[in-house]
This record gives sequence, C-alpha cells and structure tokens, in this order.
Amino acid sequence: MAKLLEYNATLAAREDLEDTLSIFKIKPDEVQAKKLEDGRWFVPGQYVTIGLNRTEGGEDDPRPVSVRRPMSIASAPEEGDTLEFYIRYVNHPESDLPLTHQMWPIKTGDRIYMRSVATGKFTLRDTIGDDDPRLKIMVAAGTGLAPFISIARSRILRDPNARLDDLVILHGASYPSSLGYREELEMLQEKHGLRYVPSVSRPKEAPDWKGAHGRVEALLQPERLEETERAMGVAPGTLRPDKAAILICGLEGTIAETIKGLLTRGFIPDNKRLRRGLQVAEDVPTSLFWEQYDTTPVIDVKDEALMETLRATLRASG
Ligand SMILES: Cc1cc2nc3c(=O)[nH]c(=O)nc-3n(C[C@H](O)[C@H](O)[C@H](O)COP(=O)(O)OP(=O)(O)OC[C@H]3O[C@@H](n4cnc5c(N)ncnc54)[C@H](O)[C@@H]3O)c2cc1C
Repeated sequence: MAKLLEYNATLAAREDLEDTLSIFKIKPDEVQAKKLEDGRWFVPGQYVTIGLNRTEGGEDDPRPVSVRRPMSIASAPEEGDTLEFYIRYVNHPESDLPLTHQMWPIKTGDRIYMRSVATGKFTLRDTIGDDDPRLKIMVAAGTGLAPFISIARSRILRDPNARLDDLVILHGASYPSSLGYREELEMLQEKHGLRYVPSVSRPKEAPDWKGAHGRVEALLQPERLEETERAMGVAPGTLRPDKAAILICGLEGTIAETIKGLLTRGFIPDNKRLRRGLQVAEDVPTSLFWEQYDTTPVIDVKDEALMETLRATLRASG
C-alpha cells in the first residue's frame, strides 16, 4: 500500500523542452547517502527514486495516495547536491497514478520527495570498469540519454581539459526539438572530441534536419553499421568487442533491436539467461550492457526459433 510521502526536497528549476519533455532540478534538504571514497555521493549512471502525493480526489478515491519511480540522474556528482533529471511525460501510462502526470503541474519552489540515496549498476565502474580503454558506445533513446550526460559531464568537471574521444553518444528522438542537451553535446564534441551522433525518426516533419535519420537502434543494424562508424569518425570494422563496448539506455524495443543488430559483430549481452540461450561460453567477456526503463522482457529466451536465429547470427559474426 502506498502511503503519504514526507516531502524532503524542493524543485529548484525546470526547463520545458517540449510540452511533454522537461528537465527538472531537485534540491534535497539534506543528502542521506554516505559519501563514496572519492568524496562523491553517487556515481554517474546511477538513479534515485522520486515521488509525489496525489493532489486530486479525496479519501474515497480508490487510487494510491502517492507514487514513486526511479529516475536516472543526468547531472554529475561534481555539481553538488542538486540533481538534474530528464523526464518524458507518458501519454499512455499503465498505472492508476502515473508519476509523470503528477509531476507536470509542479513549479519551481514546490516540494517533492526524493530519496537521496543513489543506486544502480549502470555505471562504467560496474559494467566495463573505469579504466577500460575501448570506445564506449552509448546508445540512448529519448530520456535514456540521462546517464550518459552524467558520465560525460563528470569527466569534464573533474578535468576541464579532458578528452572524450573514447565516448560515443548515439541519441535518437522523434524531432530535432526532442534532442535534449544537443547544444551541450555539440560543445563537448567540438571542444573535447566527444563523438556525438543524433538521429531523428520523423525527418519529414523537420525538413531542415541534416543529420542521421531513423530510430537510434536503426543505426546499429547490420546494413547501416559502416555508415554509423563513419558518422562516429572511426574506421569501418571498429564496432567489435575488442575495440568497443556498448551501453544502451531506454525502452525494450531499443535494447532488443540493438542487441540483435550487434550480435552480427559478436557483442555479448549482459544477461545470464540470454547468454545461456545464446550458448556463450562462460569465459567470453560481456561487451553489451543496458538500463531498461520499462518492464517488457527484452528477448524471449523461450522462443526457440528466435534463439536459433540469434545463435546462428552470433556464430557467423566470426
Ligand atoms: C532505473 C530507471 C531509471 C529511469 N530513469 C528515467 C529517466 O531518467 N527519465 C524518464 O523519463 N523515465 C525514467 N525511467 C522510467 C520511470 O521510472 C517511469 O517508469 C516513467 O516515468 C513512467 O512512470 P509513470 O508513473 O508516469 O507511468 P506508468 O503508469 O508507470 O506507465 C508506465 C509506462 O510508461 C512507459 N515509459 C516509462 N518510461 C518512459 C520514458 N522515459 N519515455 C516514454 N515512455 C516511458 C513504459 O513503457 C510504460 O508503458 C526510469 C526507469 C528505471 C527503471
């Protein structure tokens, strides 16, 4: 049973990019989390839970009185205690009390619940390791960009002269206006060597758009891999597990299609059941990781026909 949440944070600022896409900055009254060894209280790529109490309906309203959801932190730990979130209003929610519907009316200065203890293992440290020299291909659909903003910003805040040539951000959105953080990413591209490839899936409605077309997972299908490597500024064939690791963030469709596309290049997904279904030997390292925002299973390992096709793809990857 959901109970009333005790508010412990304040909305410090919000920026509305579109009617249903916003950046929220939330300041906790105090940080509950213990500091990590390096003085930070979260690691880029982690998330916290935020929540709100229901504002409409009385005691007889059968809906829960409050709602909480995990949200990836888009800001860097070096920015201080105020956290930034990149959030999409969900038009077709599944729950009776969607958090995004409660969040949309809130204004700067309003109170909110935020558990200021960050969790999650979608960090460089817990996936490939902080010192992995390979290219990090970060595949983001919509608001799935958030953890990658934190990762890129953190590096620059720790060392203003840092190079980001080993970071690739592939970001997919419907329209150019839905490509949040574009200016910041273009600046990081120009000044620090970030490899940034934005892609728009409804180009007909944006005739001036000169960049890549299609959903972000389309950039990683076998027939487009060389084009994507060129757009990233790397040699054809670089997208291989010895030279690159993949981090995906978004909904099930993006994750599933990216996995399938990249099996052709031998990338091994980070999931025990999937590895078993693909008959990957235990000593073969994982090279593809993800953070999923919805709950639909990514690949149905019980679908034997599908698994046989995927195994054949992996075997043929050479
Ligand atoms: C670890 C983690 C981190 C997350 N970080 C973010 C984040 O940074 N930004 C963010 O917007 N969401 C994020 N989410 C999703 C978020 O927790 C909620 O599921 C989402 O906001 C919808 O909640 P709701 O209560 O409004 O809708 P619900 O009634 O719970 O409806 C769920 C529906 O929303 C859809 N949905 C969930 N997330 C999104 C999304 N981002 N864009 C479009 N549709 C979506 C699902 O497919 C599902 O159909 C994250 C989820 C997880 C597990």
